[in-house]
Amino acid sequence: MYRTHNCGELRISDLGKQVTLSGWVQKSRDKGFLVWVDLRDRYGISQLIFDEERTSKDILKNAKSLGREFVIQITGEVIERSSKNSNIKTGEIEILVSNLTVLNESKVPPFTIEENTDGGDELRMQYRYLDIRRDSLKKNLVLRHKVSQEVRNYLSSRDFIEVETPYLIKSTPEGARDFVVPSRMNEGEFYALPQSPQTFKQLLMIGGLDKYFQIVKCFRDEDLRADRQPEFTQIDCEMSFVNQENILNTFEGLTKHLIKSVKNIDILNFPRITYDEAMEKYGCDKPDIRFGMEFGNLNNVAKHTDFNVFNNSEEIIGIAVPGGSSFTRKEIDKYIEWVKRPQIGASGMIYAKYNDDNTFKSSVDKFFNQVDLAKWGEITGAKKGDIIFVLSGEKNKVRAQLSALRLHVAENLGLRNPNEFAPLWVTDFPLLEWDEDSNKYHAMHHPFTSPKLDQLELLKTNPGEVKANAYDLVLNGNEIGGGSIRIHDKKIQALMLKHLGFSEKDAIEQFGFLMNAFEYGAPPHGGIAFGLDRLVAILGGQESIRDFIAFPKNNSGRDVMINSPSKLDDEQLNELNLKIGS
Ligand code: ASP
Repeated sequence: MYRTHNCGELRISDLGKQVTLSGWVQKSRDKGFLVWVDLRDRYGISQLIFDEERTSKDILKNAKSLGREFVIQITGEVIERSSKNSNIKTGEIEILVSNLTVLNESKVPPFTIEENTDGGDELRMQYRYLDIRRDSLKKNLVLRHKVSQEVRNYLSSRDFIEVETPYLIKSTPEGARDFVVPSRMNEGEFYALPQSPQTFKQLLMIGGLDKYFQIVKCFRDEDLRADRQPEFTQIDCEMSFVNQENILNTFEGLTKHLIKSVKNIDILNFPRITYDEAMEKYGCDKPDIRFGMEFGNLNNVAKHTDFNVFNNSEEIIGIAVPGGSSFTRKEIDKYIEWVKRPQIGASGMIYAKYNDDNTFKSSVDKFFNQVDLAKWGEITGAKKGDIIFVLSGEKNKVRAQLSALRLHVAENLGLRNPNEFAPLWVTDFPLLEWDEDSNKYHAMHHPFTSPKLDQLELLKTNPGEVKANAYDLVLNGNEIGGGSIRIHDKKIQALMLKHLGFSEKDAIEQFGFLMNAFEYGAPPHGGIAFGLDRLVAILGGQESIRDFIAFPKNNSGRDVMINSPSKLDDEQLNELNLKIGS
């Protein structure tokens, strides 16, 4: 037997027991007549003791030659430690070793496998299996397991069934680029890996399965922005005979259950705002509402003087930064520099301090008097002691810039508390968005999303104005889920595809299978998909998803551990009819 206990479970109540443990040598301390070894496994660390008086010479000698990360098995007696360590659960005991077997040696690891490791990102990615031995990564993977398990429990107990859909499918334009897989048996033809199981889950509804979910890998060949992975995991869900309200309630329930079961926090309230409101109040469609600083629109109160910067602006918006009137000139300048960085792109920033003596002091005192500034204060909801930051310019740009500044300021002021969870629904997204590059409308969500049915006429005359039955679930400033009520009528689907610029022939070629299925009794249906990686990261109190995925890719889409992607040899290329020049 390799072990009677794991390395995290022995306590003072086990004193006197003979135990066998197996694990990795985290570190050892050799005092000459005495050796201590920290033995680690998935469950924790137990201290081993070998000493001249009580341990045989051979075993003491072997103990002295143990290197870091050697895999060993020991047998010994649980004894009380003389100096206890209250930081670990096994800190009151140690094991007096009477038998030691080296199960496997280890080279010196390229970085220390401890919480504060000396390994850089790339090195840890290359030796991911060693990194996974570290507590923080291991905890993240355990958390991920727990979340998946709770998803399965919750949805299964509500009659959802998990159905697997294929990974080798057909390339469809769903927003991002597809990863493609050459078909050896069908020369010159390709499969695509799914960007999501969207059409399949709709077909399952037509198949009568009613409530479906799947924890599923999805693949998108996008240019990698920070913290995106080419393959990622969704909790994909679909329901029949539901309206938007039913879906929001069901998945609000799931989200509450997850936050409760994983963090033991009760969330009572999921506010709902429309896309338009979100853009007005926060300048983005995934607002972080753990703190205020809502936008105040100053258009009506800031264009009446000779201040041309404002007069020439489409939009003037301010936010009240709590406690900001005590910012020094240097601190304010730093924020001004920050918004002027090319990534943000503002040309400058105006500010007004709301002093404790009820007066305002602004960077544009030449143009605006106390009465004007008091109006700014009122509109932005400033309190005495705050500072109002104002940006102006083209509407969409200003919104995006101020939204970024709002998050940046909140971060600096410690207002983005990772242990606080503030979800909200954003609803009524536009159906279409204009794409400058291709000069066409794109589906904002995807082509299967239903327009608000009372706006069908508008689709013909003013498609950009049409709203969709589409919604996102936002948590702490991140979109963690998104979905919609779907079109289930062939004619409406055809009209939608026409607006998206598909010829009739292309529409049939690409989506004929779905439109044909609509002709055999498609029920009204809708659904949602959660990004599991992101959800788990947020529940783990972090913004980056990478350390919640066992084997992620780096920023260039490479797996540096297995060194992929990689070249194929000529024989394989030939077989796939991919030989260039052949
Ligand atoms: N398939 C969609 C997506 O991946 C989610 C949905 O509409 O259910 O974003």
